[in-house]
Amino acid sequence: PAAIVCAGLVKRFDNGMTAVDGIDLTLAGGRTTALLGPSGCGKSTLLRMIAGLEEPSIGGITIAGQPPAALCRQGSLSVAFQDPCLLPWLTLRQNIALGRKLARLPADPATVDRLIDLVGLGGFQQMRPAALSGGMRQRAAIARALATRPRVLLLDEPFGALDALTRRQLAQDLPPLWRHAGATTVLVTHSVDEAVMLADRIVVLSPRPARVLADIPVPLDWP
Ligand code: ADP
Ligand code: ADP
Repeated sequence: PAAIVCAGLVKRFDNGMTAVDGIDLTLAGGRTTALLGPSGCGKSTLLRMIAGLEEPSIGGITIAGQPPAALCRQGSLSVAFQDPCLLPWLTLRQNIALGRKLARLPADPATVDRLIDLVGLGGFQQMRPAALSGGMRQRAAIARALATRPRVLLLDEPFGALDALTRRQLAQDLPPLWRHAGATTVLVTHSVDEAVMLADRIVVLSPRPARVLADIPVPLDWP
């Protein structure tokens, strides 16, 4: 599994605003870390830097010893945002297969079908997104992200727009999936609930600019 190392990360935007101010973090391979902090503190900026979508102003990130962009090129880094971004004219199955296509990986129908079953959407392959519920679309987005068999899975407020019941259900179903896949998972959230349900480690960030306030392991079995 791929470890993620963030060293001395600072992000200052062109307008002079500092979003991230000196973050040092080592995320062990195969684990799930929640980056928890108030809205606007710089969580997404930090996640975007880990995804290679944003360059740090100072400091650097390596994933399994490589820069994030190298993993992106290999299709071994997947990102899922709060908006599932499913293409409305494609079926569920085509949308999930698209993850591999975009990463320029060969089609792998067996993996796609298995993932659809695993996220509980077995009977819905031929449906279009508009016919699915919000929770089902969110499951689909995560299946699409996992379809490339990524070594790193980055989730930005993955259940943010869903009702509490659906979130609880997804929180039960999905983490075993990415843990089983061996993906090093980082999720960004402003919800303590979501962090506790999904992660085995919670990194608490300060209000902007983001700094690490606390680093808390989540016990696996608590009543
Ligand atoms: P969070 O994900 O914790 O809500 P973000 O990382 O999205 O926070 O944003 C942190 C701060 O950086 C916010 O104040 C946001 O307005 C600002 N910000 C984000 N992107 C840019 C940008 N490209 N240029 C200037 N400021 C930005
Ligand atoms: P949940 O995550 O709790 O399943 P969703 O938002 O995904 O909630 O689903 C909303 C509605 O769609 C529910 O009524 C649920 O019964 C139905 N639904 C979701 N997934 C399936 C499925 N795999 N088979 C049948 N019905 C489903």
